[in-house]
Amino acid sequence: MTAESRFTQESIVQVRQAISEAQGNEVLVVGRLDDNQKIYSITIAARGNEEAVPALKPYLEKGDVIVHNHPSALLKPSHADLRIAAQLGNQGIGFYIVDNNVENTYVVAEPVTGREIRALDSEELAAILQPGGKLNNCFPAYEERLSQIEMLRLCTLGFNKDLICLSEAGTGIGKSLAYLIPAFSWVLCNGERVVISTATINLQQQLIEKDIPLVKRLFDSDPGVVLVKGRSNYLCLTRLRESNSELSLFDEVNENLNAIVQWSLTTSTGSRSDLSFFPDDDLWYRLCSEADACRGLRCPDRERCFVLRARREAAAARILVVNHHLLFADLSMRIAGAGFESSAVLPPFHRIIFDEAHNIENSATSFFSRSFSSLSIAKYTGRLLRKKKGRKYGLLLGLEKLLHHHNLINEVQNILGEVAGKSRCLDVTSAQLLSGNLNFRLTNEKPDIILTPVILAAFQPENILIIILES
Ligand code: SF4
Repeated sequence: MTAESRFTQESIVQVRQAISEAQGNEVLVVGRLDDNQKIYSITIAARGNEEAVPALKPYLEKGDVIVHNHPSALLKPSHADLRIAAQLGNQGIGFYIVDNNVENTYVVAEPVTGREIRALDSEELAAILQPGGKLNNCFPAYEERLSQIEMLRLCTLGFNKDLICLSEAGTGIGKSLAYLIPAFSWVLCNGERVVISTATINLQQQLIEKDIPLVKRLFDSDPGVVLVKGRSNYLCLTRLRESNSELSLFDEVNENLNAIVQWSLTTSTGSRSDLSFFPDDDLWYRLCSEADACRGLRCPDRERCFVLRARREAAAARILVVNHHLLFADLSMRIAGAGFESSAVLPPFHRIIFDEAHNIENSATSFFSRSFSSLSIAKYTGRLLRKKKGRKYGLLLGLEKLLHHHNLINEVQNILGEVAGKSRCLDVTSAQLLSGNLNFRLTNEKPDIILTPVILAAFQPENILIIILES
């Protein structure tokens, strides 16, 4: 298409000049659109090919366009162009290719221009909860609750004005409806995804099984609601297959393993909560999905993978119910570089409602701290090497073959024995440190015991195995 259909005359001249100043080599320009969807303002951002795009990200906003010239005048996008355009597209940023004379344009990805946000009508929503309203029509035994309506008005104000609202609600005022009604209305009016974060499974169940179906009836609409769980709640088909190949007969663990193998053939969710029995924690953590071991889209089991299916369902939903821990996991990935416009643990979202917010501190503390015990260390060392009925299993067997190091298992076996001894010692020393208290807060005044090598290592858990192995 002609460049004129996408650029104003002034911006065409400016881009042409920038290319000329770069002696016809590749340049990257950030363009901003006017009301006619034409680029009217440009910033020369970098000279170089599309690999320079990541350096531009801090200067880009949703709805902007990156313009890139192909000196060859062939406007067909390269693989690198397509990859960058896909990444930018997730953030609502467009990608155009032009020739050096800026006569023709190839639109690889359209920008997503800002949509107008529709404000909610507070009185209209309050009327749902008032006598004679929709809730009253659903439940003839309904009672008006003034504090519930007041809370609904506050939540509506928060949505409309981008405010952080804090509401303390006594038991029984019906706080879930007070925030769910504005949340549903916001999603239906504006399409923005809302996350509802809770501390307990009980509340999640109440929301999913009781309150949300009721609000769907009140609105006679379903914007797509999904309960999102952490990946360790889902069976990993690859790990199940690997564990099953270690199966030996006649013990209780294997009875459970057999039952899980049978269940895996029929379950549509793969979620631990859908099992008809409580599997032993050790067994489940050998079978559930783990981020470090997951091969994602390269996995041979991806077609039936329960984690990938749950992610697809979450991506299609507009209201996500999560727990605080999962939300903090998502936020920490975003802060660490994933950004707020693409998927991290959760798909991108715009609004958060914290229910049971008094538990946020505990959840944040548990997420941003590490915990370990002699049991968890045994679990990790067991993944390296474990013995069962005289046979050896674990990653070291494969490693020994891979490295052609025929004495590796014998050498590491002694070190693993030492690790087990040190971790038991750590338990004892930690118990002394706590000396009967349930917790210990670190201050500048450290008791002598904290300076012992084992405890020092404990405060740097990522180093503990290395320190113990070196000692
Ligand atoms: S994609 Fe990951 S979680 Fe799913 S089956 Fe494969 S390894 Fe397991």
